[in-house]
Amino acid sequence: MTSERENPFRIAQQQFDKAADLLDLPDDVREILRVPQRELTVNFPVKFDNGSTKVFTGYRVQHNLGRGPVKGGIRYHPNVDIDEVRALAMWMTWKCALVNIPYGGAKGGVVVDPANLSMGELERLTRRFATEISILIGPDKDIPAPDVNTTPQIMAWIMDTISMHQGHTVNAVITGKPVQVGGSLGRNDATGRGVSLMVREWARNNNQNVEQLNVVVQGFGNVGGVAAALLEEMGCRVIAVSDATGGYVRRGGLDIKAMREYTARHPRHLLEGYTAPGVEQLTNTELLELPCDVLVPAALENQFTELNAPRIRAKVIVEGANGPTTPDADAIFEDRGITVVPDILANAGGVTVSYFEWVQGLQEFFWTEREVNAQLERVMVNAFQQALRKAQEWHVPLRTAAYLLAVERVAHSTMTRGIYP
Ligand code: GLU
Repeated sequence: MTSERENPFRIAQQQFDKAADLLDLPDDVREILRVPQRELTVNFPVKFDNGSTKVFTGYRVQHNLGRGPVKGGIRYHPNVDIDEVRALAMWMTWKCALVNIPYGGAKGGVVVDPANLSMGELERLTRRFATEISILIGPDKDIPAPDVNTTPQIMAWIMDTISMHQGHTVNAVITGKPVQVGGSLGRNDATGRGVSLMVREWARNNNQNVEQLNVVVQGFGNVGGVAAALLEEMGCRVIAVSDATGGYVRRGGLDIKAMREYTARHPRHLLEGYTAPGVEQLTNTELLELPCDVLVPAALENQFTELNAPRIRAKVIVEGANGPTTPDADAIFEDRGITVVPDILANAGGVTVSYFEWVQGLQEFFWTEREVNAQLERVMVNAFQQALRKAQEWHVPLRTAAYLLAVERVAHSTMTRGIYP
């Protein structure tokens, strides 16, 4: 159970309130944007390989539909709950507005540890969950995507399930699909690539040479693993990484390429059992407190709280994860002069290329990887520059600046459309 202080939805509301206060948002608009527009809870049975049946709980929350169809991933995790999904949906609204793509925010989740399921069980759970939320999703209504523990294969099953119901292929109902069934080149690496671009932009703006940066990455999945690899390619020294099985450190720099090859061979894509000369193991707590230039949390929420924020020794935190920093920790980082490139900016590369995938699917016209990456870079660098300018103008941290930009855009469309009826 998370404490109320670490309840992600309370945190998301606090972050919103701060921006709403600064923007002097009218009370009626504030009341609308503070809560999700729609929430669906589903309880559904799944048949297990041994013949038994178990009921699972899942959610789909749509926070705001003012700027277009809603967009956001689906998470499979044993700790998923409605407040987490509400927060993640609200963060999607701000993220899409910040990078200025025509979506509102949504999120879904199923309370499950997929590591305990066979492939067949995972497929049946996915297809049944997709069926349960099919009353909400659709290419012009709500477009899911991957999130923690969900993969391109799972996206393919969801696309297929919705397509079977309709009687024809509905490509644009979901993004993050494998390339051979309508996915976009570059989508898989997009979130990690966006994170690496934010590190580069921060370095440029702070007269830092990327080749002299020591980087620590928490999480070695689709975000952390890709970010670590791309930062290594850019010339950074990645000194520590971790996944659910623990952390690995080498002061002189890890061989991320070799570690990625190792996880690709591991049955659950984990670093468990990885050894190499000079590599030592460390705990998650120790990893986060290592002295470094760039710290990339790319796992779950609430990694930085008032308890460990005073001990963080990074110059900049680039949030690959959603919600890794509590407001208490944010205040401590601000006092201590640690820059935070906030989640809604730092990890927006994923949803940006999801948008490109959706556009390509609707047009049935597919881009080269170079085109995708160039458009991604344009969007991310532009959003970073806008947030930086706002931060300088208002004398606020980047998170507040990003919220000011995003909330203003969403509030503006809400007021322009007016209140129905
Ligand atoms: N789950 C990702 C996120 O948190 C991607 C969402 C998407 O591509 O729609 O941004």
